[in-house]
Amino acid sequence: MNETPRFYACRAAIPDAQMPHRDDPFDAAVPPIYQTSLFLFDSYRELEDVFAGRSKKPIYSRGDNPTVRILERKVAEMEGADAARAFSSGMGAIAAAVLAFVGPGDRIVTVRHVYSDAFRFFEKVLKRFGVAVDYVDGANTEAMIAALPGAKLVYLENPTSMVFEVQDLSAIADAARRHGVVTVVDNSWATPLFQSPLALGIDIVIHAASKYLGGQSDTVAGLVASSKVHIDRINSEIYPYTGAKLAPFEAWLVLRNLETLPFRMRHHHEAGLEVASWLQRHEDVGRVMHPAFGDHPGKRSFSGFGGLFSFEVSDRIEVAGFVDALRLIRIGVSWGGPESLVVPAKAALSISPETNVFARFGVSDRTIRLNVGLHAAGDIIADLEHALTAAKR
Ligand SMILES: *Cc1c(COP(=O)(O)O)cnc(C)c1O
Repeated sequence: MNETPRFYACRAAIPDAQMPHRDDPFDAAVPPIYQTSLFLFDSYRELEDVFAGRSKKPIYSRGDNPTVRILERKVAEMEGADAARAFSSGMGAIAAAVLAFVGPGDRIVTVRHVYSDAFRFFEKVLKRFGVAVDYVDGANTEAMIAALPGAKLVYLENPTSMVFEVQDLSAIADAARRHGVVTVVDNSWATPLFQSPLALGIDIVIHAASKYLGGQSDTVAGLVASSKVHIDRINSEIYPYTGAKLAPFEAWLVLRNLETLPFRMRHHHEAGLEVASWLQRHEDVGRVMHPAFGDHPGKRSFSGFGGLFSFEVSDRIEVAGFVDALRLIRIGVSWGGPESLVVPAKAALSISPETNVFARFGVSDRTIRLNVGLHAAGDIIADLEHALTAAKR
């Protein structure tokens, strides 16, 4: 990276001015947790004014909750969006963002190596409701653009899961706008600190806040950030009815953990690159799938890199033996928290094949996904070195 990542600038990008808790009678430094389902009204008039939209006040926490609202405003500001909506999971956010815009007979375009449960949502739910899904190599910008005419929505993930392919967001967003296609991108990996999809012309940003925004492996949460028009549509067509709202306590956990996001991301960026470069030089490691390597034009949209990437071990390494020999690095499927983790694709390939994105689009069983957590790069490298030696046939 030649550019200085926006580690510190983003501290200011985590705004707290004019947040609802500024009205707190005790000037609480940290937003209170409004642990209530219900909000009361003093009079018939007040109730009718709120129902009629003449005044604003939360009614019921499935629709609105002040703690959740603070998180939504912060993430909207970080993404440069008009508004955001919080969900009980990243999948809740993905489902709502897609379902608000498609109906029977429509077609969506997505990237082949999309997040595994987004793939299952497309295959098991969207298709059942008569929505066609085209899977395209996201790194092939021409193929992506060629698939757009007639589509309703294009669902991107930059970079993709497991193989970390990069897409050219601005080129795809430009073409999509010409064809009237709504653009959605999962920005969980780069976070608003390292990639600003809306500034590149993308319509809707998704976050699995269970990963970096939450950052502590202690909560499952999701967000959608976009223009007022799109968020209004999500609010009126989907949000209150599927019920995937975020709980106030979970919102509070994400709010708390956002405060350390710049510092955590600086570590994930630096340590991730150091470990990836070390792996690239190792004689028993083949391809290292890290968006920093290679010269895809889509790389320009990143001002820094997440610490999650994959590598392939050579056929001299026994995969299960390698995984079992790790000591510091644990085995686990989530990412974005303090733990350093591996997921061997070989195990994931054993999941039933009909909705297995890895089997469908071809991920080598020698692929290991590595989450560089908050450990020192040197400690992670020592653990990898030890395990590669131990697993050598
Ligand atoms: C985990 C993940 C999701 C889903 O988020 P949940 O909170 O687990 O529902 C979506 N996209 C990516 C890239 C993920 O890693």
